[in-house]
Amino acid sequence: MELLKKLTAATGISGREEGIRSLIIKEMKPLVDDLKTDVMGNIIGHCKGKGKKRLVLAAHMDEIGLIVNHVDDKGFLRIIPIGGIDPRTLMAQKVVVHGKKELYGVIGSKPKHVLTDEEMKKALKVEDYYVDLGLPVEKVKKLVEIGDAVTWHRDFTEVGDCYVSKAFDDRIGVYVMLEALKKINGKALPVETYAVATVQEEVGVRGAETSTIGLNPDIGIAIDITLAVDVPGSADHQQITRLGEGAAIKIMDGNSISNPRLVDHMKAVAKKKKIKFQMEILPRGGTDAGALQRAGGSAAVTAISIPTRYGHSSVEMIHKMDVKACIDLLVAYILEAGSKDYILK
Ligand SMILES: [Zn+2]
Repeated sequence: MELLKKLTAATGISGREEGIRSLIIKEMKPLVDDLKTDVMGNIIGHCKGKGKKRLVLAAHMDEIGLIVNHVDDKGFLRIIPIGGIDPRTLMAQKVVVHGKKELYGVIGSKPKHVLTDEEMKKALKVEDYYVDLGLPVEKVKKLVEIGDAVTWHRDFTEVGDCYVSKAFDDRIGVYVMLEALKKINGKALPVETYAVATVQEEVGVRGAETSTIGLNPDIGIAIDITLAVDVPGSADHQQITRLGEGAAIKIMDGNSISNPRLVDHMKAVAKKKKIKFQMEILPRGGTDAGALQRAGGSAAVTAISIPTRYGHSSVEMIHKMDVKACIDLLVAYILEAGSKDYILK
C-alpha cells in the first residue's frame, strides 16, 4: 500500500518520466538479477530462468498530463495535452507545474456568468483552458518555460473498498509487476523473465516498441488498466469490465489480438489457483501488448488488466480485490510460463 501510494504520488508524463523512473529503479533493483535502462528511459529488469524461452512483462511508467506551450504577458500558461486528455476533465483542476521548481496552480476558464449564449453551448477544448499560478508575470517567466510538464495535484485516497488516484494508469500496472517480482524472488523460474517499466505508452506505445526489439520475447504480457464502465447510464454489454470482479484477461484491444492459446492457458492458471478473473475486450485504445507482439519478431501476447473506473481522469478508481487477483495471477503464470506451446497451426 505504501509503495502504491509512492508510485502514484511520483510524477512523469510521457517523455518526462524522470520523477517516477528513479523510484522504480530503486524498488526493482533488489528484485532482479540485473537491471539496465536505455536511452529512452525504459527500465529493463532481468530474472534468470532455466528454459530458453523469453517472457517479457511490460507496465508503463508514464502518465497522461499537459505541457506548457506558451506563457502569456500576464503570466497565464497555455497548455497542450500529452496523451488522451478529455477536455471535460480539465475544468477546475488543481495542478503542479514542473518548472525550475514545483509550483502549484489551478486550471482556469472563463466563468459561466460572463459567457454568451453561444459560448455556453460550445464544448471547451484543451486550448480554451489555461494554468493560473497566482504569481506576477515576471516571476512566472523566471520559473516556467515552454516544455515544462504539468500534472494533476491529487492525493491517493481510500474510498470504500477502492482506491482513487491521479495515475493508476499505469502505476497500478507497475505496482502489480513489482509485487509479483517480490513473490517470485528466490524461486526457480522456468523461463528467462524480463520486467520492463516502459516509457511513452500514452503517446503511442513508443517505449515498449524499442525495448522489445532487443528482448525478442516468445511470450509478452502487458500489465495495464482497462476500463470498468459498470456505472450509471451504460448498458451491460458496454461495461468492458466490472470493478471487484477480478483480474481481467485481455482477448483484444485496438492494438492487439491476444494469442488464443495463451489466453486459454491464463484462464486455466486462474481456475487452478482459484483466482477471480473476467475477460476483457477493449474496443478502442491499445497497450504495450501490441509492441510485445510485433516489435521483436512475433510473440504470443495478452495482458493482465486492472479494471479501472474513470480512466484518464484525476480520480481513477480501482478495487482492492482486483489488485490482489492481478498480482496472484501474474505470479502463478510466471511460475508456469513455458509449459505450453502457443504456436498457432
Ligand atoms: Zn495505460
